[in-house]
Amino acid sequence: MKRYLVLMSACVAGMAAGAVPAPWTPVTAKDGVVSVWGREYAFASNALPVGVKTAGRELLAGPMRVICADTDGNEIVWKKGGSWVQEADAESATVCAWQEADEVAANVTARVEFDGMAKVSLALVPGPKGNRMKLSRAWLEIPFAPGVVTLFNYSPASWSKLENTGAVKGAIAWPFRCAVWLGDEEAGLCWFCESDAAFSPADPERTIEVLPGADTTVLRIRLAEKALTQPTTWVFGLQATPVKPFPKRFNANHTVHAPQMGAGLTIKRPEVWWTAQRAFPEGKIEETLDAVAKAGTKTVVFHEDWIPIQNNPMPRADFKAIVEACHARGMKVLVYQGYELSPLDPLWGDHHADWLKMDRAGHFTSCWFREPGQRDYSVCYNNDFASVWLARVKKAYDELGLDGVYLDSTIRPRACANERHGCGWRDAAGKLHVTYPFFAVRKMMRELYEFVESRGGRIDAHQSGYVCPATLAFSHSYWDGEQIAVGGNKKDIRKELNIDAFRAEFMGRNHGVPCEFLAYEKPGWCYDDALAITLLHDVMVRPCGFVAVPRLATLWKALDDFGAADAEWTPYWKNPIAVQPASVKASAYQRGGESLIVVSNVSPEESVTAEVSLPVGTTCVTDALSGNELPVRDGKVHVDLAPFRYILLRVNSRLHFGQK
Ligand SMILES: [Zn+2]
Repeated sequence: MKRYLVLMSACVAGMAAGAVPAPWTPVTAKDGVVSVWGREYAFASNALPVGVKTAGRELLAGPMRVICADTDGNEIVWKKGGSWVQEADAESATVCAWQEADEVAANVTARVEFDGMAKVSLALVPGPKGNRMKLSRAWLEIPFAPGVVTLFNYSPASWSKLENTGAVKGAIAWPFRCAVWLGDEEAGLCWFCESDAAFSPADPERTIEVLPGADTTVLRIRLAEKALTQPTTWVFGLQATPVKPFPKRFNANHTVHAPQMGAGLTIKRPEVWWTAQRAFPEGKIEETLDAVAKAGTKTVVFHEDWIPIQNNPMPRADFKAIVEACHARGMKVLVYQGYELSPLDPLWGDHHADWLKMDRAGHFTSCWFREPGQRDYSVCYNNDFASVWLARVKKAYDELGLDGVYLDSTIRPRACANERHGCGWRDAAGKLHVTYPFFAVRKMMRELYEFVESRGGRIDAHQSGYVCPATLAFSHSYWDGEQIAVGGNKKDIRKELNIDAFRAEFMGRNHGVPCEFLAYEKPGWCYDDALAITLLHDVMVRPCGFVAVPRLATLWKALDDFGAADAEWTPYWKNPIAVQPASVKASAYQRGGESLIVVSNVSPEESVTAEVSLPVGTTCVTDALSGNELPVRDGKVHVDLAPFRYILLRVNSRLHFGQK
């Protein structure tokens, strides 16, 4: 076995490094270890990986394992196994691996791609004794090293409550989830799966479990808990995060979502549709752009009405002048693309039945009506529409000289049961079930990423609760939070949006892609509420509508004046500075001899007087937003903070790390 590995490694070493898109590096495979940017997957005498390293740490406490029981319920003893690199080039390495017991053999192939996504096929087949399997149980278990799993996130997410993300505080059980990520503030591992067709858990509500223990936290996937007599195959993905280097200057982008949007906001609907009307409801293009550029806007995202047909990027001639007007003011332009097919699309008639997403009842689905009067239906990218859409986007991108695209839900594989293009599956009773086409969306996103990346542009993915790296990796940023923002004025967002949930889903650093936060202002919820949480995590709120720019402009200026984008950032969980009481958290930027400290009260209900112990040697503290100097007493400042309010302190000294 070992000799074969060495031979294969020599072949790999002799290959020319192929082109993989930046910022990734070519895949290498040596001595059973497949390496990609920032991560390593180790294989040995087992069917599944024995080690996963990311961010300089080993994630696993031991080998990933397949646990099987015979028909008497006795655990099967694996007797031998092995692995080798079957194929490898710059893009990927495919490992074949096996292990066998008397009753059963596990045959695995794992294709590890340059972004660290491993597509795994796990087949349980009859072992050397007889040609029939007799199993009563099969589990996949991933044992994590101590301390690795403090946070979780899964998809699909509910939009009514923020339940899919947070801290692991005890054992968790879920029904089938198409993606589960476990990790901490710096790194993690995602397991994802397109279909639950091959799964047969005894209790479907406990298909997936997270089991914390003293020495390890186990992710258990209950593959089968009924008699398995036929060869059975499960195909899933594994991907360690972060997936790429975190871009340091992301928060200097000062992105504005151009239309006025928001829960409960009534947008003025024009008598006659015209280009980008939601961005410029008064029609004053030049003076609006002058004002927002002066206020610090660097990037403008135009929503759906830059085109007359939803998700069909065929612009009207007058939009190019708007792009050029933005460029003339030094602002970059991203445009909306999405998740729909419009009955106004010239290809609708011949193709909609093949291309649309279908729910488990066999219906096409829609939740959107727009100007000019059209009902838009959710599309699935697991068919020819993906290549049609890519060609259209590329054409518009170059014709308009765009700087990026904004993708509304596009990266999220939509639950689909349209059998006409291969989605969905039927159980023995003929009942239709959905599948999640990760690999089709991933293929499409990779092509788009290579196109946009080669032009120095930005793919911004609005994904509403979905942070699966298999497709998120092919974005430059994501915009998350709409699922919390909707739900009527009775929903108390302050009680939903906790800092544990934020670290797991909205921070971006542990996934490797930066995030901006979506806040729809409404009674009881405004940008300052959201900023009290987001700024603690070095995440910006993206204002909706040019009219909202003045409410972010002062903050942008304070961060720019300090040089926050080039500063060293220390988050609150590393205790950069002592604060009280417990609901007050502080994160800090440091640059030169100065510090910029975000102090927030994250209590949803209690007003507090925050006490901040300043670094030794501090002689001057100012409120960076107002410019007012604050009185220092005994090396401390005291600030009254209402629930979900923050202050930005600029201090003329550096932190003394972890001081008490
Ligand atoms: Zn589909």
